[in-house]
Amino acid sequence: MGAEPGVVILTVPIVSRYYWPIMSGRLPEYINPLQFADQRRRLEGTVRIDGLTRLVDALMNTEGEVTVDLAFGRDGRTAVIAGSIGAELQLQCQCCLEVLRWPVSATVRLGVVESIDAAGLLSEDYEPLVLETEQIAVADIVQDELLLAIPYCPQHPQCGAPASTERRDKPERPNPFGILADLIK
Ligand SMILES: [Zn+2]
Repeated sequence: MGAEPGVVILTVPIVSRYYWPIMSGRLPEYINPLQFADQRRRLEGTVRIDGLTRLVDALMNTEGEVTVDLAFGRDGRTAVIAGSIGAELQLQCQCCLEVLRWPVSATVRLGVVESIDAAGLLSEDYEPLVLETEQIAVADIVQDELLLAIPYCPQHPQCGAPASTERRDKPERPNPFGILADLIK
């Protein structure tokens, strides 16, 4: 079975030529990543933004979905997850406090490890995903990636503070150096 060009599954070394059917649509809540790696499974579908409990505090609006495309496999003995996560988040501009639409298109390259020590031995090609229990929530993988994509101080690119109306309301103060210049004349 050949993968179409541009699909991230190509970056995972191919050991077996047999793939499980692609899981698509609404994704399962929990998965076993080691089992998925052995079975070379692929998750393709969506998760709702309002279900991402650690992310919602950073958002002004929790409507919408995250598109997820993740391929599971092995790189040597390491279980790896490669793919992409995309969403349009609605952040709050820290300048005007209005909605700031923030498109995210994140490339995912995770190496599944069972301890922090093992994470240190992981190839630089992968970010560690420390597995504390057999099952992991898909939402956790997704929101960790999205949280990394949120700027520390989100702002509209052309957002000037204070707003222009506020400036117009203030009486113009004479420039003290202008007065001085008049006196010298
Ligand atoms: Zn703004």
